[in-house]
Amino acid sequence: MKKPGMNLLFYPRPYKARIEWDEKIVQVIVPFYMDKCGQPPAKKLPRGISSRFANLRDPESYYFAQDFDRFVAEFGFLGITDLPKEHFIIFQPPQYGEHYKENISWWVHYAQDVYILLRLYRVLKRAREHEEYDAEEAIDGLFSMWVKNGAPRMGRVLDDTPLIKVAPRIMARAIACSLTGGINISDMNVVPSKGSPIGFTITEQRYTKYLLAAIYFDLWELITNSLPVEICAYSECNKLFTPKRKTAKYCSGACRVAAYRKQKSNK
Ligand SMILES: [Zn+2]
Repeated sequence: MKKPGMNLLFYPRPYKARIEWDEKIVQVIVPFYMDKCGQPPAKKLPRGISSRFANLRDPESYYFAQDFDRFVAEFGFLGITDLPKEHFIIFQPPQYGEHYKENISWWVHYAQDVYILLRLYRVLKRAREHEEYDAEEAIDGLFSMWVKNGAPRMGRVLDDTPLIKVAPRIMARAIACSLTGGINISDMNVVPSKGSPIGFTITEQRYTKYLLAAIYFDLWELITNSLPVEICAYSECNKLFTPKRKTAKYCSGACRVAAYRKQKSNK
Protein backbone atom coordinates (compact mmCIF):
# COMPACT_ATOMS: atom_id res chain seq x y z
CA MET A 1 0.00 0.00 0.00
CA LYS A 2 1.31 3.40 -0.94
CA LYS A 3 1.97 5.72 1.96
CA PRO A 4 2.73 9.18 0.65
CA GLY A 5 4.58 11.45 3.08
CA MET A 6 2.71 13.88 5.27
CA ASN A 7 1.75 17.17 3.66
CA LEU A 8 3.48 19.02 6.47
CA LEU A 9 6.99 20.27 7.13
CA PHE A 10 8.38 19.94 10.62
CA TYR A 11 11.04 22.36 11.85
CA PRO A 12 12.92 20.52 14.59
CA ARG A 13 14.60 22.46 17.38
CA PRO A 14 18.36 23.01 17.21
CA TYR A 15 18.90 20.93 20.36
CA LYS A 16 18.11 17.44 21.52
CA ALA A 17 16.14 16.09 24.47
CA ARG A 18 16.34 13.09 26.76
CA ILE A 19 14.29 11.64 29.59
CA GLU A 20 15.31 12.15 33.23
CA TRP A 21 13.48 9.19 34.75
CA ASP A 22 14.15 10.18 38.38
CA GLU A 23 12.62 13.61 37.89
CA LYS A 24 9.88 12.32 35.57
CA ILE A 25 10.66 14.92 32.91
CA VAL A 26 11.88 15.17 29.34
CA GLN A 27 14.60 17.78 29.27
CA VAL A 28 17.06 19.48 26.99
CA ILE A 29 20.52 17.93 26.70
CA VAL A 30 23.11 20.47 27.84
CA PRO A 31 25.45 21.74 26.63
CA PHE A 32 23.76 22.12 23.29
CA TYR A 33 25.34 23.49 20.17
CA MET A 34 23.61 25.48 17.50
CA ASP A 35 25.05 25.32 14.03
CA LYS A 36 25.74 28.45 11.97
CA CYS A 37 22.21 28.78 10.74
CA GLY A 38 20.72 28.02 14.15
CA GLN A 39 17.78 26.27 12.58
CA PRO A 40 18.11 22.68 11.32
CA PRO A 41 16.42 22.05 7.96
CA ALA A 42 12.72 21.24 7.85
CA LYS A 43 11.81 17.61 7.40
CA LYS A 44 8.81 15.42 6.76
CA LEU A 45 7.92 13.14 9.62
CA PRO A 46 7.06 9.50 8.95
CA ARG A 47 3.40 8.74 8.31
CA GLY A 48 2.00 6.69 11.18
CA ILE A 49 3.87 8.69 13.85
CA SER A 50 0.51 9.08 15.65
CA SER A 51 0.28 5.30 16.18
CA ARG A 52 3.82 5.17 17.50
CA PHE A 53 3.13 8.04 19.86
CA ALA A 54 -0.14 6.44 21.06
CA ASN A 55 1.86 3.42 22.24
CA LEU A 56 3.45 5.65 24.91
CA ARG A 57 0.14 5.93 26.77
CA ASP A 58 0.76 3.29 29.44
CA PRO A 59 3.67 3.76 31.88
CA GLU A 60 2.97 0.25 33.24
CA SER A 61 3.55 -1.42 29.90
CA TYR A 62 6.62 -3.57 29.41
CA TYR A 63 7.81 -1.52 26.43
CA PHE A 64 7.18 1.93 27.90
CA ALA A 65 10.67 3.07 28.97
CA GLN A 66 12.43 1.67 25.92
CA ASP A 67 9.90 3.07 23.42
CA PHE A 68 9.77 6.43 25.16
CA ASP A 69 13.59 6.79 25.21
CA ARG A 70 13.73 6.00 21.50
CA PHE A 71 10.92 8.35 20.58
CA VAL A 72 12.47 11.29 22.43
CA ALA A 73 15.94 10.59 20.97
CA GLU A 74 14.48 10.51 17.48
CA PHE A 75 12.00 13.40 17.57
CA GLY A 76 12.75 15.56 20.65
CA PHE A 77 10.23 17.64 22.56
CA LEU A 78 6.45 17.64 21.99
CA GLY A 79 6.38 21.45 22.07
CA ILE A 80 4.00 22.14 24.95
CA THR A 81 4.41 24.20 28.09
CA ASP A 82 1.70 22.67 30.28
CA LEU A 83 -1.56 20.74 30.19
CA PRO A 84 -4.64 22.83 29.31
CA LYS A 85 -6.48 24.34 32.26
CA GLU A 86 -10.11 23.39 32.80
CA HIS A 87 -10.04 21.00 29.91
CA PHE A 88 -13.28 19.37 31.03
CA ILE A 89 -15.76 22.00 29.75
CA ILE A 90 -15.02 22.15 26.04
CA PHE A 91 -12.12 20.81 24.02
CA GLN A 92 -9.04 22.94 24.65
CA PRO A 93 -6.09 23.28 22.30
CA PRO A 94 -2.71 22.17 23.65
CA GLN A 95 -0.53 24.93 25.09
CA TYR A 96 1.96 24.97 22.25
CA GLY A 97 5.29 26.58 23.02
CA GLU A 98 8.93 25.95 23.74
CA HIS A 99 10.10 24.89 27.16
CA TYR A 100 13.36 23.32 28.30
CA LYS A 101 11.47 20.56 30.09
CA GLU A 102 8.20 18.67 29.69
CA ASN A 103 6.61 16.45 32.32
CA ILE A 104 6.28 12.78 31.45
CA SER A 105 2.66 13.02 32.66
CA TRP A 106 1.92 15.55 29.87
CA TRP A 107 3.23 13.08 27.32
CA VAL A 108 1.14 10.27 28.75
CA HIS A 109 -1.97 12.49 28.73
CA TYR A 110 -1.61 13.28 25.01
CA ALA A 111 -0.54 9.74 24.08
CA GLN A 112 -3.77 8.54 25.69
CA ASP A 113 -5.78 11.18 23.79
CA VAL A 114 -4.25 10.18 20.46
CA TYR A 115 -4.77 6.50 21.33
CA ILE A 116 -8.49 7.03 21.99
CA LEU A 117 -8.93 9.00 18.75
CA LEU A 118 -7.19 6.25 16.76
CA ARG A 119 -9.33 3.57 18.39
CA LEU A 120 -12.46 5.62 17.74
CA TYR A 121 -11.51 6.01 14.09
CA ARG A 122 -10.92 2.24 13.91
CA VAL A 123 -14.34 1.49 15.38
CA LEU A 124 -16.11 3.86 12.96
CA LYS A 125 -14.23 2.40 10.01
CA ARG A 126 -15.08 -1.12 11.09
CA ALA A 127 -18.75 -0.29 11.56
CA ARG A 128 -18.86 1.04 8.02
CA GLU A 129 -17.13 -1.98 6.54
CA HIS A 130 -19.12 -4.60 8.50
CA GLU A 131 -22.78 -3.81 8.86
CA GLU A 132 -23.36 -6.43 11.56
CA TYR A 133 -20.69 -4.91 13.83
CA ASP A 134 -22.28 -3.20 16.84
CA ALA A 135 -20.19 -0.11 17.49
CA GLU A 136 -22.28 1.49 20.27
CA GLU A 137 -20.66 -0.35 23.16
CA ALA A 138 -17.15 0.18 21.83
CA ILE A 139 -17.75 3.93 21.34
CA ASP A 140 -19.32 4.23 24.79
CA GLY A 141 -16.25 2.59 26.34
CA LEU A 142 -13.89 4.90 24.47
CA PHE A 143 -15.92 7.98 25.46
CA SER A 144 -15.65 7.03 29.16
CA MET A 145 -11.90 6.53 28.77
CA TRP A 146 -11.72 9.92 27.10
CA VAL A 147 -13.64 11.73 29.85
CA LYS A 148 -11.36 10.09 32.43
CA ASN A 149 -8.43 11.57 30.52
CA GLY A 150 -9.90 15.09 30.67
CA ALA A 151 -12.17 15.31 27.61
CA PRO A 152 -15.48 17.20 27.93
CA ARG A 153 -18.39 15.17 29.31
CA MET A 154 -20.19 14.86 26.00
CA GLY A 155 -22.24 11.82 27.04
CA ARG A 156 -24.78 13.76 29.10
CA VAL A 157 -26.12 16.00 26.37
CA LEU A 158 -26.39 13.34 23.70
CA ASP A 159 -29.71 11.82 24.95
CA ASP A 160 -30.89 9.00 22.69
CA THR A 161 -28.99 9.77 19.51
CA PRO A 162 -26.90 6.72 18.54
CA LEU A 163 -23.26 7.33 19.37
CA ILE A 164 -22.18 6.24 15.92
CA LYS A 165 -24.02 9.28 14.49
CA VAL A 166 -22.34 11.83 16.74
CA ALA A 167 -18.90 10.26 17.16
CA PRO A 168 -17.43 11.40 13.79
CA ARG A 169 -18.32 15.01 14.51
CA ILE A 170 -16.93 14.91 18.02
CA MET A 171 -13.77 13.24 16.75
CA ALA A 172 -13.30 15.88 14.02
CA ARG A 173 -13.88 18.70 16.47
CA ALA A 174 -11.41 17.27 18.97
CA ILE A 175 -8.66 16.92 16.35
CA ALA A 176 -9.33 20.35 14.83
CA CYS A 177 -9.09 21.84 18.30
CA SER A 178 -5.79 20.06 18.95
CA LEU A 179 -4.35 21.52 15.72
CA THR A 180 -5.36 25.08 16.65
CA GLY A 181 -2.31 27.26 17.12
CA GLY A 182 0.04 24.47 16.04
CA ILE A 183 -0.01 24.56 12.23
CA ASN A 184 0.98 27.43 9.93
CA ILE A 185 0.75 27.95 6.19
CA SER A 186 3.59 29.43 4.15
CA ASP A 187 4.86 29.60 0.57
CA MET A 188 1.56 30.06 -1.19
CA ASN A 189 2.35 29.42 -4.83
CA VAL A 190 0.21 30.34 -7.78
CA VAL A 191 0.57 27.62 -10.41
CA PRO A 192 -0.96 27.68 -13.93
CA SER A 193 -3.68 25.05 -14.25
CA LYS A 194 -5.84 24.23 -17.25
CA GLY A 195 -8.55 22.58 -15.16
CA SER A 196 -9.14 25.58 -12.90
CA PRO A 197 -11.86 28.12 -13.80
CA ILE A 198 -9.42 30.99 -13.20
CA GLY A 199 -6.53 29.27 -14.99
CA PHE A 200 -4.43 29.00 -11.83
CA THR A 201 -4.43 26.98 -8.64
CA ILE A 202 -2.92 28.01 -5.36
CA THR A 203 -0.69 25.47 -3.65
CA GLU A 204 0.27 25.80 -0.07
CA GLN A 205 2.86 24.44 2.31
CA ARG A 206 1.88 23.73 5.87
CA TYR A 207 4.52 23.72 8.56
CA THR A 208 4.90 23.42 12.31
CA LYS A 209 7.54 23.78 15.02
CA TYR A 210 5.60 21.55 17.40
CA LEU A 211 5.89 17.79 17.30
CA LEU A 212 2.51 17.30 18.99
CA ALA A 213 0.79 19.32 16.24
CA ALA A 214 2.50 17.11 13.63
CA ILE A 215 1.22 14.02 15.45
CA TYR A 216 -2.38 15.30 15.38
CA PHE A 217 -1.92 16.25 11.74
CA ASP A 218 -0.79 12.69 10.95
CA LEU A 219 -3.94 11.43 12.67
CA TRP A 220 -6.04 13.88 10.66
CA GLU A 221 -4.46 12.72 7.39
CA LEU A 222 -4.98 9.05 8.28
CA ILE A 223 -8.68 9.77 8.67
CA THR A 224 -9.10 11.97 5.61
CA ASN A 225 -7.24 9.40 3.45
CA SER A 226 -9.03 6.42 5.10
CA LEU A 227 -5.72 4.71 5.86
CA PRO A 228 -5.83 1.61 8.07
CA VAL A 229 -4.78 1.50 11.72
CA GLU A 230 -4.17 -2.00 13.09
CA ILE A 231 -3.47 -3.63 16.44
CA CYS A 232 -0.48 -5.97 16.46
CA ALA A 233 -1.72 -9.57 16.55
CA TYR A 234 1.09 -10.74 18.84
CA SER A 235 -0.63 -11.07 22.24
CA GLU A 236 2.34 -9.77 24.23
CA CYS A 237 2.53 -6.61 22.10
CA ASN A 238 -0.91 -5.31 21.00
CA LYS A 239 0.60 -2.00 19.85
CA LEU A 240 -1.18 0.19 17.33
CA PHE A 241 0.51 0.53 13.97
CA THR A 242 -0.10 1.86 10.47
CA PRO A 243 0.53 -1.12 8.17
CA LYS A 244 2.59 -0.80 5.01
CA ARG A 245 0.66 -3.67 3.42
CA LYS A 246 -3.06 -4.22 3.77
CA THR A 247 -2.62 -7.79 5.05
CA ALA A 248 0.00 -6.99 7.71
CA LYS A 249 -0.98 -8.46 11.09
CA TYR A 250 2.11 -7.64 13.14
CA CYS A 251 3.74 -4.30 13.93
CA SER A 252 7.24 -5.60 13.18
CA GLY A 253 9.22 -8.58 11.96
CA ALA A 254 10.22 -9.28 15.56
CA CYS A 255 6.55 -9.65 16.60
CA ARG A 256 5.78 -11.91 13.64
CA VAL A 257 8.64 -14.23 14.63
CA ALA A 258 7.73 -14.12 18.34
CA ALA A 259 4.07 -14.95 17.58
CA TYR A 260 5.15 -17.86 15.40
CA ARG A 261 7.44 -19.22 18.15
CA LYS A 262 4.70 -18.90 20.76
CA GLN A 263 2.20 -20.69 18.56
CA LYS A 264 4.72 -23.48 17.97
CA SER A 265 5.55 -23.92 21.66
CA ASN A 266 1.82 -24.00 22.54
CA LYS A 267 1.43 -27.01 20.28
ZN1 LIG B 1 3.93 -5.95 17.78
